[in-house]
Order: sequence, then structure tokens, then C-alpha cells
Amino acid sequence: MKIVCPKCKHKWDYSGKSKYYVTCPCCYRKININKLKNKNVGKK
Ligand SMILES: [Zn+2]
Repeated sequence: MKIVCPKCKHKWDYSGKSKYYVTCPCCYRKININKLKNKNVGKK
């Protein structure tokens, strides 16, 4: 799934196992995927 870091705007394709938190490979910030998902749904 595509992830966009809210802090540094870095985009990458995440294929890990975690459904809740991933770490941005650019700034190492922990990102809540669940939140991103909800945002995407709201946009549609
Ligand atoms: Zn980042």
C-alpha cells in the first residue's frame, strides 16, 4: 500500500506486516496507517 509521510511528505510503497504503525524510511517518524486509511476513505 502507498504511504505518504505527513511530516516529510516522503512517499513509498509499504508491504510490511504491521496494520497500525510503520516507520518512515526518510525521517524515521512512526506513522499510524489506520489514520491514513480513514483519511483516504473520507476523500472518496
Ligand atoms: Zn517522513
